Amino acid sequence: MTLTIFRARRIHTLNPARPVATHVAVRDGRVLGAGSLDELVGWGAHVLDERFADKVLLPGFVEGHTHLMEGALWRFVYVGYHDRLDPDGRLWPGARSIDAVINRLRDAEQALTDPRAPLLGWGFDPIYFGSRRCERADLDRVSDTRCVAVAHASLHILNVNSATLRAAGHLRPGIDHPGIPLGADGLPTGEMKGPEAMGAVGPTVGMDREAMASDEDAVRRFGRLCVRQGVTTATDLASPLPAPAVTMMRRVTAEDAYPVRLVPLLRLQAEPPAQTIARAAQLRAQSQDRLRLGRVKIVADGSIQGFSARLRAPGYYNGAPNGLWYIPPEQLAQAYALALESGVQVHTHTNGDEATELALDCLEGALARHPRPDHRFTLQHCQLADAAQFRRMKSLGMAVNLFANHHFYWGDEHYAMTVGPERATRMNACRTALQTGVPMAIHSDAPVTPMGPLFTAWCAVNRLTASGRLQGAHERITVAEALHAITLGPAYTLRLDAEVGSIETGKLADFAVLEQDPFEVDPAALRDIPIWGTVQGGRVFEAAAL
Ligand SMILES: [Zn+2]
Repeated sequence: MTLTIFRARRIHTLNPARPVATHVAVRDGRVLGAGSLDELVGWGAHVLDERFADKVLLPGFVEGHTHLMEGALWRFVYVGYHDRLDPDGRLWPGARSIDAVINRLRDAEQALTDPRAPLLGWGFDPIYFGSRRCERADLDRVSDTRCVAVAHASLHILNVNSATLRAAGHLRPGIDHPGIPLGADGLPTGEMKGPEAMGAVGPTVGMDREAMASDEDAVRRFGRLCVRQGVTTATDLASPLPAPAVTMMRRVTAEDAYPVRLVPLLRLQAEPPAQTIARAAQLRAQSQDRLRLGRVKIVADGSIQGFSARLRAPGYYNGAPNGLWYIPPEQLAQAYALALESGVQVHTHTNGDEATELALDCLEGALARHPRPDHRFTLQHCQLADAAQFRRMKSLGMAVNLFANHHFYWGDEHYAMTVGPERATRMNACRTALQTGVPMAIHSDAPVTPMGPLFTAWCAVNRLTASGRLQGAHERITVAEALHAITLGPAYTLRLDAEVGSIETGKLADFAVLEQDPFEVDPAALRDIPIWGTVQGGRVFEAAAL
C-alpha cells in the first residue's frame, strides 16, 4: 500500500479543524490527514509527490445538478448564443442570430453524406432574439427533405422543421395539445414544448433520451469535461436508467482511468410512481464507488425563460400564460409518500414558485403520514422561492440546490420580460437560504448552461448578468460560502458528505487542482482561475493530458 504525501502551495480543506495545510497524505484512495510534512510523516514510509508544489488544492468539486447528456450532445451541432468549451478543449463561438443558427446548421447539413440522417442542433436560445419565435419555415431553410431540429438550451422545447413533423405524422390540422402550438394555417408551428410533445418527435431527429442514456462515448466525454472543470463527483440528474445503461455505466466507471464518481438519479416519468420508487430501491444494490444509484428525480414544471414554469399569481411579467405541470399534482403527493415509506431520496425540479409550493404541500402531507428524520428531499433550481417558502423548506427538513448560473445567462431577460424587476432581483436566493438555515448547493444544470463550478461560484458571489448589471446585491454570498456550495453543500444533498466535499481524515482523496488561490484573487476573477485537473480517489488526472 503506497502512502503518498502530496505537497501543494496551499490546501484549503473545508475542514474547520484544519482549514489550511501544505501537505496531504493519501493511501488506498483515501485521505490519512492534511497538515505539515512533519505532522504527516508519522503515518509511516511514504513517497513525497511535489508536482503540485505551486498549485492550490481544494476538495474535488461536486456538481449536484448536471446531466450526462452534456457528453451526448457534443455529437450534435452546438448552436447556443454563448461561446462554449467542448470536452476536448475546443472553444465553439456563440451563434448570435437566427440567421447564424441557420447558417451553422446549413454547413453541418452539407457535410452529411447520408440523405436520411437527421440533423440536430442544441443549445438554441431564442430569448436573446426578442419576440421572434423560431418556426418550421426557418428550419425548412436548412432542408425541406431532411429531418432538422434544434433543442432549446433549457431542453424543455424542441423546434422542428416540416419534414420532421411529416415523418412523425404531425403535419396535419386538428392537433389539440397544450405543448404543440398551432400557426394561422392550423398546422403546428414546429415548436414542441414539454416532454410529451418532444417525445413525439425526438426519436425522429435522433434525440432519444433512452439511447442517450446508454451512450458510452457520452459517459467518457462527460468524464473529460469534469476533469477540465475540477469536478470529481457529478450527478446525472434525470436518467431513465434502462438496464443496459446501468450495465454499461458500471463497466465504464470501474475502469482504472475513469475520472469521476457518477450519481445518476432515476427519473419518474411515464410509469406509476410505485414502479419507479421500487426500481430505485433495487438499483441501490448495483452501486459501486464511482457509480451511486438509488435516488429519484421528479420534474414538477418547465423553464422560466421558456414560459413553461408554473408561477403563482401575478404570473409572468409579460402576460404569458402560466406554464405546464410535468407531473399531475396528485401523482407527486403519491410519489413522495411511497418514497418516504421505502427510504428512497427524491430530488424535485421546481422552477416556478407555484411548483415549489406544490412540492412543499405534497411533502408536508406525506411526512404527516410517513415521518422520516433526515430524509434530505431536495428542491432543484427552486429559482423563484420567496423567504416564506425557504422557511417552510427549513421546517420540513429539505435541502435546496439553486441555479446560480441563471443570473448571468438569463438575468437580464428575467428582469425585462419573464418575471419582472422585483422577482428577478431575488431569484436564486442564496443568502436567504443560508440565513434561513436551509442546506444549500449551487449548480450549472449542464448542458442547460456549461458545467464549471468555479463559474457557478462566481455567479453566486457577484450576481452579474450577461450585460454586466449587478442584480440582487442582498442575495450575494462570500467566496467561502460559494466554495462550500460547490463541495460540501451538494455532497450533503446527495448523502455523500461523509465521503466527499472536504479534505479530511478518512474521506476519499478527491481534489480540484487550481493554478491560483480563490481566496487571493479578486472575487470578480473567480471564474478565470485556470484549472490544472483533479485528483480522484488518489488518482491524478491532468486536463492538458486528456
Ligand atoms: Zn436538469
